[in-house]
Amino acid sequence: MSQFKALLVSEENGAFVPRVVERDTSELPGGDVLVRVQYSSLNYKDALSASGNRGVSRNYPHTPGIDAAGVVEDSRVAEFAVGDEVLVTGYDLGMNTSGGFAQYIRVPAAWLIKRPAGLSLRESMLLGTAGLTAALCIDKLEQAGLTPEAGQVLVTGATGGVGSIAVALLARLGYSVAASTGKAEQSEFLRQLGAQQIVLRSELQEGADKPMLKERWAGAVDTVGGDILFNVVKSLRYGGSVACCGLTAGVGFKGSVMPFILRGVNLLGVDSVELPLVVKASMWDKLSVQWKLGNLDGLAREIGLEALPKAIEQILAGKLVGRVLVNLG
Ligand code: NDP
Repeated sequence: MSQFKALLVSEENGAFVPRVVERDTSELPGGDVLVRVQYSSLNYKDALSASGNRGVSRNYPHTPGIDAAGVVEDSRVAEFAVGDEVLVTGYDLGMNTSGGFAQYIRVPAAWLIKRPAGLSLRESMLLGTAGLTAALCIDKLEQAGLTPEAGQVLVTGATGGVGSIAVALLARLGYSVAASTGKAEQSEFLRQLGAQQIVLRSELQEGADKPMLKERWAGAVDTVGGDILFNVVKSLRYGGSVACCGLTAGVGFKGSVMPFILRGVNLLGVDSVELPLVVKASMWDKLSVQWKLGNLDGLAREIGLEALPKAIEQILAGKLVGRVLVNLG
């Protein structure tokens, strides 16, 4: 048994209050592998969990954190030995299983992958679920036929975690990237990541009542959903595709079949959570070699557990820029 620090969210008179507390490994759920967490990262879903969203986390007190990277301290299975460096993203971690905003997690071996040789534990969490999701979106677009020669690719919610990594990855792969943002003042940040054009979010909100819009994008990574997503569908070029992964602008949209039957466009769903481990591992391999980004520190800031509650408020308000790396010390 070891004592460790964790962010614990408790329900108090209807409010959800996060506090850094001391916990004991005996309080962690059963599982195959005990991991001493070195880094985690903040994703939008963590903020939903920390603010009492029952669709994400049902029971409180609870420690959020859907991402964790660290070192195996105890293992009941042959695949993982004490001292192995491992990472876990998604599945039930941080949802209804005590998560990565803590110095220890205990998880099933079926959730863990060994650290890819080309990434440090720190780099893996600079990417985290956001990086994995951005990579999955681009992979799906390419499987649907997207190439850099096809034309410009749009990224919505571009200053967010998934969005900023999608911009950087697409630019790294030779695509011409248009970055859509509600934060005009962050245009220079987006250009430094590799965006060639900045599109204001308000521009993508126009025309929700029209059946079709002018053809603009060869492909798109959409992290926001809502009417913006369907406006993007309506402005895809003939045969183009949009990878849909997020919901910060809303979960519903008014749609019609017109763009699909007149322009043959594709709406591709992306899930990074329940994806089979073998697919996750192959995507991490890609992120560690062919798609490795050199400028990860430029799109992130590093914080400790104590600073998480403030960062959670910022991400919920749509005010965060880039990624937040959580150092568990
Ligand atoms: P972030 O908060 O880091 O990024 C979201 C971005 O969306 C913001 O930075 C902002 O970008 C934009 N945004 C915020 N509010 C609004 C709004 N009301 N209308 C339009 N745009 C808005 O979150 P993440 O990058 O961590 O996640 C992005 C989305 O993807 C979330 O919905 C998350 O739940 C989802 N997600 C899904 C995954 C999956 O497996 N399918 C995995 C990971 C994330 P800007 O100001 O630049 O426009």
